[in-house]
Amino acid sequence: MANLSSFVELQKESVVNKMIINNIAPNVKKLIPIIILLASVSVFPSYAMTSCQCVAFRLDDVQNYWIDNPQLSIMKLFHEKHASLTIGIIGGSFGDDPKLVNFIKNNIHNKDAEIEIANHGWLHENFTHFSKQEQIHLMSKTDAKINKVFGITPVVFIPPYEKFNDDTINAMRENHLRFLSSNMDDDSGTYLVENNRVVHIPGNAQTGTLANHDTVWLHKGHTHTFIKIMQGMQNYGYATVVVHPQEYSLRNGLEYYNEVDKSQIKELEYLVDEIQKSGLKIVPVSKIPAFMNETVTTPQWLDNIFTYYEEGKITDKEIYSDIKYLLGKKLIQL
Ligand SMILES: [Zn+2]
Repeated sequence: MANLSSFVELQKESVVNKMIINNIAPNVKKLIPIIILLASVSVFPSYAMTSCQCVAFRLDDVQNYWIDNPQLSIMKLFHEKHASLTIGIIGGSFGDDPKLVNFIKNNIHNKDAEIEIANHGWLHENFTHFSKQEQIHLMSKTDAKINKVFGITPVVFIPPYEKFNDDTINAMRENHLRFLSSNMDDDSGTYLVENNRVVHIPGNAQTGTLANHDTVWLHKGHTHTFIKIMQGMQNYGYATVVVHPQEYSLRNGLEYYNEVDKSQIKELEYLVDEIQKSGLKIVPVSKIPAFMNETVTTPQWLDNIFTYYEEGKITDKEIYSDIKYLLGKKLIQL
């Protein structure tokens, strides 16, 4: 949003006029929640916030000889789109699979489409079950493996199962891991806050999720994930999208085949395209704090729209259509 007066002008020209002229045309009908909000206030409060204007993607569970075709196809997609990707490597199960090692090696230093390597535990342990000393040891073993294979030392730690405690933070410090990326559900209230010299960058969107007591992966369509990204931008000024290779493999329940689910990869492609068309940068997880230097003015009513969405008063389809309309009209300016 450029400023308040231009926003008022724009909305007069577009949303309200459209409503009057079309007299509740079908596409305007979808904007009813916004129109109600706009019509109910004579001044539209807005506020300035800090934003990175960026999105990071995090591919978890990267490991040897296990659905490596889906793992590789996700990495290749980001490469083709000139977009960066952060991958969480399980140290104890990594280093022998040339298909993965070679591709990653070639793209670690690719400025255009960087693969950033994160530490994702030694054997995907729940770190909260271990003492601080044990946690330090598990992390350092994976760091050493990554260093041996790629000659670099990671700075991002992705806790397996999203679980961590104070000892994890202290163990990270001992290993010079500076960025913790869990999920927002497991890391509430600490977004981009520095805690004992570790910065929390939790994931706030995902392309799929385990459901039915963790017995099945459910896809989130690209429109749903895009909404969550926009919600992350609105609430925190950044978005991190969590991706698992399992979601992109053909499978039967939790039995995975080493074959790519092409329709799902297509969904990911649509999502990346949509982000790039919106003008958001796709960056590695660790770069988000450095990009948090833009001041954007955002209208208060957009918060209300997302609250309605959270409360189930607006469907995915409706809010997606609203967001696209507002982006198109530059009522949301990225
Ligand atoms: Zn994992």
